[in-house]
Amino acid sequence: MKFCGRNSAGAIGMEVLNAVEMSHRFIEPLLAQATLLVDATAGNGNDTLFLARMASDNAKIWAFDVQSAAIEKTRALLVKHDVLSKVTLVAESHEMLAAHVLGGIDAVMFNLGYLPGASRNIITRPQSTTAALKFALKQLNPGGRITIVAYPGFLEGAQEETEITRFLATLDQLHFTVASWSMLNQRNQPPRLYVVEKRRSERRETTASRKN
Ligand code: SAH
Repeated sequence: MKFCGRNSAGAIGMEVLNAVEMSHRFIEPLLAQATLLVDATAGNGNDTLFLARMASDNAKIWAFDVQSAAIEKTRALLVKHDVLSKVTLVAESHEMLAAHVLGGIDAVMFNLGYLPGASRNIITRPQSTTAALKFALKQLNPGGRITIVAYPGFLEGAQEETEITRFLATLDQLHFTVASWSMLNQRNQPPRLYVVEKRRSERRETTASRKN
């Protein structure tokens, strides 16, 4: 998994970005070639808008949210930016991915937790998140990526992160690269990004790599 930041001065180097910003950086390189993209948690629509603005006109984007208020916010944002035609909005759980999204997927974005400013009772749950993740992993094209932004700053969010981490750690390294990113010196448990990439080909274990 290659990532190289370019700062505003045009120099290549390390940029310190938060988890959501970093999720965009990991997905962005895929978007010119992508044909099937998923925002698994539309929320306020920012990730869906990011996908719709950056993807080619050939791309089909699916955005899911269980709250119709979130779907409507997302729709309004997409209309404002004149990109609604690229997106299919689904007011259902991302567990229903398999019923809607057919074919190889290039990228899936999860932004977990609750909708900022709305009820904290409607949150993503480990069981449904993991079910959606399992389907996404199966359908992901080689080289495709999944980003998951987790919020350990509240109890259920922390529990969900623990379960997701446990699940991600079981993925076979021959088939998937799994990494994480977070700020280490911020107060109140900042969000953490997980990135999964489906490997293009199985890495063969060579004598050299065994020695390392
Ligand atoms: N906490 C983030 C925003 C997360 S929004 C932030 O601060 O930016 C998470 C969204 O996931 C919410 O809009 C919520 O309605 C949605 N959601 C919860 N469970 C879901 C499910 N099973 N399928 C799809 N969306 C879900």
